[in-house]
Amino acid sequence: MAGNFSRWMWRGALGVVMAFGGAVQAASEIVVYSARNEQLIKPIFDLYTKQTGTKITYVTDAEGPLIARLEAEGARTPADLMITVDAGNLWLAAEKGLFRPIKSNVLESTVPAQYQDPQNRWFGLSVRARTIVYSKERVKPEQLSTYEDLADKKWDGRLCLRTSKKVYNQSLVATMIERHGEAKTEQIVKGWVDNLATDVFANDTALIEAIVAGQCDVGIVNTYYFGRLEYEKGKLPAKLFWPNQATTGVHVNVSGAGVTAHAKHPKEAQAFLEWLSRGEAQRAFAGINMEYPVNVKTEWDPIVQAWGKFKADDLNVEAAGRRQIEAVKLMDRAGYL
Ligand code: FE
Repeated sequence: MAGNFSRWMWRGALGVVMAFGGAVQAASEIVVYSARNEQLIKPIFDLYTKQTGTKITYVTDAEGPLIARLEAEGARTPADLMITVDAGNLWLAAEKGLFRPIKSNVLESTVPAQYQDPQNRWFGLSVRARTIVYSKERVKPEQLSTYEDLADKKWDGRLCLRTSKKVYNQSLVATMIERHGEAKTEQIVKGWVDNLATDVFANDTALIEAIVAGQCDVGIVNTYYFGRLEYEKGKLPAKLFWPNQATTGVHVNVSGAGVTAHAKHPKEAQAFLEWLSRGEAQRAFAGINMEYPVNVKTEWDPIVQAWGKFKADDLNVEAAGRRQIEAVKLMDRAGYL
């Protein structure tokens, strides 16, 4: 509930100080479309409403339907902000003209350049690392080195991969194309396919469970899925490994947001986005999902800290979107289902 009492706080935050009992103003409100799960996002919305009085109405759905909905609604959309995972999706929404470029000194200082759109149409809010997971029983960490090395014959019949249909793997391969070019990347991806122990998995959790069950020895997953599984099941006989530390760094991606092109409350939406990039909100946004805060001043969640520090790839994540079509075609040619 955004009552009169809390409304003045929000006005104050915008620099328009209203006296108690002052003129009645329309309550601040924003509408958010979120492809990030309700359970991850609702507590953050509630905190914002509590702190500022701004009411947040939201719709959650998968990114595909949300992007289609924004497109179909056009200028009539009620959405002020869209939150989604993966730079590939943020890039796509921007390409379709669904976001507006915004000028924000706050976001320029809180969100590192590699995690925001070079044209300022979207900004990363949390960083996710897509890394190697391995069986502690059957693999020694010294045997591991890079994503590229998983194409080596020594992993024949030992590798598990999630489906290439998932944008996370499309983004991984897209950034490899950016780094190595198509020919070399295709060779690597073919090598992965040759080394597969079994059919590709529908999700990262099933992949980790396959390693635990002894179906395969190594795989590639987002770290928070490993965190969630250990949180549910206790210590697993599997571990995360940081690859490419002597070369390109760990593949990272973001979840993030953009103010919509047809926002009815663009200032309020931007203020919310800025709030998300700092302080308590930033800690919660990343921490709730065991991801990494995008703001370098924000402390990592203790579970995440325990996985250790790593060197991340420093490419701008927009490459994941820009090269997505090439990546999809390449994976198809390589027989990666
Ligand atoms: Fe995910």
